Amino acid sequence: MNLDIENFVKYDDFIDQYDMYIWDFDYTILKIHSYASHIELKDVQSASWKKLIGDFADPIFFRDLVYYLKGKKKEVAIVSFGTYNVIKAYLDRLFDDTRIFDSHNILTPLINNKRYSSSFRVNSDKNENLVCLMRQNPSIKYDRAIFFDDTYQNIQGARELGIKGVLINQKIGFTKKVWEELIKTESISSGDKNKLESCKVLEQSLDDNEIEKEKEPRKGYQKNNDNLIETFDGDKEQEQEQEQEHAIENKDKDSEKIGAPISSYFMNWINVLAVVFIFVYYLIKKYNP
Ligand SMILES: [Mg+2]
Repeated sequence: MNLDIENFVKYDDFIDQYDMYIWDFDYTILKIHSYASHIELKDVQSASWKKLIGDFADPIFFRDLVYYLKGKKKEVAIVSFGTYNVIKAYLDRLFDDTRIFDSHNILTPLINNKRYSSSFRVNSDKNENLVCLMRQNPSIKYDRAIFFDDTYQNIQGARELGIKGVLINQKIGFTKKVWEELIKTESISSGDKNKLESCKVLEQSLDDNEIEKEKEPRKGYQKNNDNLIETFDGDKEQEQEQEQEHAIENKDKDSEKIGAPISSYFMNWINVLAVVFIFVYYLIKKYNP
């Protein structure tokens, strides 16, 4: 593969701002929606090169950019709601090196050829998938990740995490023109603090000289991630411990309540015995002078 490095060096100032590059797949890398179109693994594997290329938004630019990013030791990933096998098949046909995208960096709830159903539905956005990806790459901070997606909700979810979100027009997808327009826009607004709107949370924490806390996904994620099950179970354990502590405290209080009448009961008997003792002592003194 002949990659014209010269063409990409000019992007270095922008590229160096991020260590993790994340793309949605349908309507972003592809200009079609492969899942909604019911495209299957065999369709991708048997498609002519012309047909295949026609499904991508800008395949050659995307391929070369990814190779360039990998050459600069950047991480790349696909975070999609589409079918794993279909996404993998498209990318395997595009990249000579099929290890660039595999199960370590193609994140989707639909493993193999699985599809959604009434009992298995898509989440509202990609919050949990992005958190999962970032946890797999703990050396990369959230504000060093950039995410391209055609759904506004997904972009908002990424921004909440501090990831730079770039909304893609689904009629165009991720193309060289879109990439260059983004860089142009970013360089025009450089120096403008608002351009880093998505990174406000982290900036604030850095200003406070605090270490960035590990982000937690919204609830509902624990189904899919063992680490999070531990976290949520940890919370449950803590709650159970607190409940037990409360129960012990209440028990102590109850035993105090129970103990009070018992002690007063004995005190009454001691008083009676004391009176009897004094009375007997008085009688003895009186009749045995
Ligand atoms: Mg999409």
